[in-house]
Amino acid sequence: MAAATPSVESAGNRARSSAALDFLKAGPKKLLIGGKWVAAKSGKTFETLNPATEEVLGLVGEGDKADVDEAVKAARKAFEEGQWSKIGPHQRARYLFKIADLIEQHADELAELETLDNGKAKTQALAIDVAGAAETFRYYGGWCSKIYGETNPSDPSMFNYTLREPVGVCGQIIPWNFPLLMASWKLGPALACGNTVILKPAEQTPITALRLGELILEAELPDGVVNIITGFGPGAGSSISEHPDIDKVAFTGSAEVGKIILKASAGNLKRVSLELGGKSPNIIFPDADLEQAVPGSMMGVFFNSGQVCCAGTRIFVQKEVYEKFNEQLTKFSAGMTMGDGLDPKTMMGPLVSKEQFDKVKGYLELGKKEGARVTVGGEAGSGKGYFVKPTVFADVNNNMRIAREEIFGPVAATIPFKDENDAVLQGNDTTYGLAAAVWTRDVGRAHKVARALKAGTVWVNCYNMLDPISPFGGYKQSGFGRELGRHALELYTNIKSVYVKL
Ligand code: ADP
Repeated sequence: MAAATPSVESAGNRARSSAALDFLKAGPKKLLIGGKWVAAKSGKTFETLNPATEEVLGLVGEGDKADVDEAVKAARKAFEEGQWSKIGPHQRARYLFKIADLIEQHADELAELETLDNGKAKTQALAIDVAGAAETFRYYGGWCSKIYGETNPSDPSMFNYTLREPVGVCGQIIPWNFPLLMASWKLGPALACGNTVILKPAEQTPITALRLGELILEAELPDGVVNIITGFGPGAGSSISEHPDIDKVAFTGSAEVGKIILKASAGNLKRVSLELGGKSPNIIFPDADLEQAVPGSMMGVFFNSGQVCCAGTRIFVQKEVYEKFNEQLTKFSAGMTMGDGLDPKTMMGPLVSKEQFDKVKGYLELGKKEGARVTVGGEAGSGKGYFVKPTVFADVNNNMRIAREEIFGPVAATIPFKDENDAVLQGNDTTYGLAAAVWTRDVGRAHKVARALKAGTVWVNCYNMLDPISPFGGYKQSGFGRELGRHALELYTNIKSVYVKL
């Protein structure tokens, strides 16, 4: 359990980068409103923990409705005064490039803070979270000058054209699995289009968003363009989704909360985009190159300790190679090094929180009760830290709860299938539709199956490939709206049609 009093000293002692240590030791973290760091109006704070040690990393301001109201006022003022929405696109681009540069200059510090707060391996935080965040800001910096309207073939007596204008004040609620990266996926396109923002990081992992807030101030964005409210879902989050003066809400998190946000947004009919959970099928045909498919599938499900919305948790393997694949997956998974994310040898860190740890432990018990066969793992750690061993359940039936419910932990289910049709039917037999993968050397089959799978992203002979250039989002209960790529610009712009009588 958490220490009764914050042990920033001992938490800091684990930090290897002096910059990360300085940030943690600088005292309780505040909210960013109108370009200034301010304490929550209630004066309340909450603890954020290091999930590898259960030590308190620091105290963070607990924002609620009163703070969200202030942040919305600041964001509205900044938006209407036009110091962001109406500046030239090249100028806006320079700010985004500057943020990308600052992220890169502070890469080691940010990776370390992410590891300390979330638990993930620092090597991965550096290569994926931090590098990806910089790339995303740079990518959307490029878009600032390429947001086009159109001229339409109107009657000769008319000139008709369209303008793409920013939506206004955007509320952005993000999860704890990729805290900095998710902040960049949200802020990048919203800012490129000229919107102002209230960002709410997850209560489990507020640290890197707050450090990013400092870098945003260093990049000299006008006051009120980016506001950051730390706090809990009910309270800070719900005040954003219910707020009558927020024009759009973008959310990444659980389907359950996505539904609450959608209902709350009805008050002023704010625009909503939702990136929710998944139970993604990963399909292995007998002609797949197993040397690639086995480690690829393993990382597809265990990367980030399985706390990935597009994780390939249902591994469908054709009967002919089912046993062979299971044996190899088991062997590889047993070799995964689990430990403190600061250790360079660590491939898999702890889960993010006690709540997540208990939930995943419950699914380990459930899988055994449902009759699935544990080939590796199956247990949670008993010492300090929220560690759960990489677990493979074999002989799973697609109707079992461990194959239907999102576990969000390092738990794979392998399911045998008969033929291509059976693989697609079972793969699509889920309420979710975020991602899917197919492993085969038959190029025709690869494309046929990619078309047949009901998912927003399909990988062929790879897994978890993501690039800001390509859209990401869900079918079915995995949500709607597409982030990344040029498609995200649609989330953050309104289209205006202008008729001019000639
Ligand atoms: P998880 O269950 O994996 O923790 P959630 O969907 O609960 O994921 O959380 C994702 C984000 O949504 C977090 O920032 C959280 O604070 C926020 N959130 C949770 N509940 C609500 C709510 N009722 N309204 C708005 N935001 C919420």
